[in-house]
Amino acid sequence: MINSLAFVFIPQGVFIVLFVLVFILAIYAQIRVTSTYNKNAKILSRGGITGREAAEAVMTRAGITDVEITETDGHLTDHYDPTNKRLVLSSENYRGTSLAALGVAAHEAGHAIQHKIGYSMLSLRMALVPATRIVSGILPFIILASWFLVRGLTGIVLDVAIICYAVLSLFQLITLPVEFDASRRAKVQLTELGILDRDEMPGVNETLNAAALTYVAAFVGALLNLLYLLSRRD
Ligand SMILES: [Zn+2]
Repeated sequence: MINSLAFVFIPQGVFIVLFVLVFILAIYAQIRVTSTYNKNAKILSRGGITGREAAEAVMTRAGITDVEITETDGHLTDHYDPTNKRLVLSSENYRGTSLAALGVAAHEAGHAIQHKIGYSMLSLRMALVPATRIVSGILPFIILASWFLVRGLTGIVLDVAIICYAVLSLFQLITLPVEFDASRRAKVQLTELGILDRDEMPGVNETLNAAALTYVAAFVGALLNLLYLLSRRD
């Protein structure tokens, strides 16, 4: 399969430009997620409902009663853990009543809904987690090994690196519909449940769209690494 993909050829100079552009995109996405979150974390919702209450309301409406909502330390450490059926919110979003807190909490509840209804992309993403963990563990050693190899990445080491980035690219690609869908569900539920008024939604949209851009940047980065490695195969 790798041989049949060896036709991918982009001049080295173009790769340098692309790597710089992807780096700028990643930095921009990170700055944007921080700035939009900080801005909307200061805008309190009129309803005064906390992130925890919002997540609970969204899940209750979807008929989910077996997911535990827990509070955790850290900044933007919010996530849904499908293995343990746990919705984890950072303290600021768990207790907060801001547009940012409600957006993030409802987004995580969106993942819980995906899990309950067996959303195919989430199932696929979960199935890829073990392989992604393995390749993430291997990659640092490959990068380290490439420094000691006279001609950089070649032969079997290059092939293993290609497989690693192929797995990562696929994982990041599948992450995109999972994240977009969770945010779409969050936006619908926040207005339909009357947690937020329509004129409060721009702050939620801004926060969730900025978060989505970081996933796009991660996918583009993994894909570029994959194409670069493929171009180095003779
Ligand atoms: Zn998410």
